[in-house]
Amino acid sequence: MTEYFEIHERDGAARLGELRLAESHRTPALVDDLLVDGGTEWTQERDVPEGDDSKITILPHRAFPGGTPEEVQDAFAAEYPDVEFPSAAVVHSDTVADHGTDVYVLSNAQELAGHASAFVDAIISVRERIPADTALYLPGVATPATLPMIVAAGVDLIDSYAARIEGTRGQYLTSNGAQFLEDLEELPCSCPACQQPRTEFTLQDCADHNANVLEQELRTVRERIRAGRLRDYLEGQVRHDNWATSVMRQFDQQYGYLEQRTPLIRRANLTAATDDTLRRVEIQRYAERVTSRYHNRFDNPCVLVPCSAKKPYSESQSHGQFHQAVQFRGHLVSMTSPIGVVPQELELTYPAQHYDTVVTGHWSETEKTFVSNVLRAYLERTSYPRIIAHVPDEGYRAICERVEEELGLSFEYTVEEHPTTTESLANLSSTLAGEEKYLKRDRQHNTMRAMADYQFGDGAGDLLFDEIQTEGRYPKLRARNTDGEQLAVVVPQYGVLALTLAGAKRWAASDAPTKRVEIDGFVPHGSVLAPGVVDASDDIRPGDEVVIEGPKAFGVGRAEMSGPEMVKSTRGIATSVRHVEEKK
Ligand SMILES: [Zn+2]
Repeated sequence: MTEYFEIHERDGAARLGELRLAESHRTPALVDDLLVDGGTEWTQERDVPEGDDSKITILPHRAFPGGTPEEVQDAFAAEYPDVEFPSAAVVHSDTVADHGTDVYVLSNAQELAGHASAFVDAIISVRERIPADTALYLPGVATPATLPMIVAAGVDLIDSYAARIEGTRGQYLTSNGAQFLEDLEELPCSCPACQQPRTEFTLQDCADHNANVLEQELRTVRERIRAGRLRDYLEGQVRHDNWATSVMRQFDQQYGYLEQRTPLIRRANLTAATDDTLRRVEIQRYAERVTSRYHNRFDNPCVLVPCSAKKPYSESQSHGQFHQAVQFRGHLVSMTSPIGVVPQELELTYPAQHYDTVVTGHWSETEKTFVSNVLRAYLERTSYPRIIAHVPDEGYRAICERVEEELGLSFEYTVEEHPTTTESLANLSSTLAGEEKYLKRDRQHNTMRAMADYQFGDGAGDLLFDEIQTEGRYPKLRARNTDGEQLAVVVPQYGVLALTLAGAKRWAASDAPTKRVEIDGFVPHGSVLAPGVVDASDDIRPGDEVVIEGPKAFGVGRAEMSGPEMVKSTRGIATSVRHVEEKK
């Protein structure tokens, strides 16, 4: 029942939406002027208010002080009537339930401000128990410095209450934290409230300024969500607020909550500027899939090489030189922070060619630990006849030696001074003397299969693309079955496969884990809206390739939301449809 709220875009747990009142409002939004309170039912029985579509009416409710036992809360819980206007229910994170309203107001929000782990638990508990397509309102808490984290957690609506109170106490807020108004000689802001001499600036002006900055910060955050770059911004902004830093780190421990909501692919690059980047879902997911889904299908020695700033790696000058020396006699695996290891077939796969990192030549201990853990897990699963480490001293060599020792392996090192010196490259080439070359055809087949493993699951590459013909020039590869029917194409921007109808049929009929969206009896064109979804696989993530099937249609497309969200939502595009055919 969310006629008045719709989500248009998602960036992890953050959402960009629209409150459809008499006027439309973009969310995340300030709701200061958009609420009517139906009042508390503690003091008297309340009639259902006469709401209208200009505001959100908070239905009569009973709020409870912190620590009230759940049984007591349940016994006194207000009944929420079905109403024909935009409405909100007041809920406590311990007893929250679906009341059929458009908005949920978290009554214990203020107890959670300042308490990071309680905040994280409360938000996850509420978000998982109210419908995905309803708005969550966190009252009385947001400040400009904490706003990015609050939105990243999955909150849609806030107010300027806390920011204004801080202003009346002489706290001048900016997106970088708070300053005592008394300490300011100048007003470092160009908002309307600050357009006056410092000496005439009152506490009321300070409150207005704080609210203006909050509004400004909301615009920045919405733009970041639109660009798919909220996390990059968050990693910088949380530095200004210890609570927000703590919340971000604790959310990063909630991998399930975030992973379900994080897209498989993004247009935007990710910025790797801090150790916190290593804990973001995209990085952990890539490492997890490379070490649990990917299969090496080459018989050649492994050649470990350093990553390059230019992506994909194969287009860089250094990798061109490695390739010249290796000449198809080795399987290239790039070592990199923050990705871990990148086998050559997955160099295009998000985020392997979508990150910008700070190059200092030094690796932090966290980076070394992360990359060596991934390399170790990778080599535990993948056995090679030989492992050649063509890596420079800094960081790389230490990681190799650590893994070598842990696994009882013996690497062959080929670098003198630097990997691209004539001497080093000659070493690499002569170390591979006598090794067989793999065929271009094998490389193409193995690339398609590796992408299928990564995207669809362990074993999918062999099950789907056992007998195929490939054509096209890397990276624009296409796969056909032995009858010449096209099955899939590589999408070079993201290193993922896009299936044809024939490919989707093969996938649906195979033993490989299939991501299915079951729809009602209609033939979709362009997209499937959430109300048309009957059921969907739990493991569908935004951006996943999905089979779409119903009594009247069979198709293939790309998920716009997670499987659980498709099932629970009543609005919004669930999946795009690339190809569809009517069932006869
Ligand atoms: Zn200002």
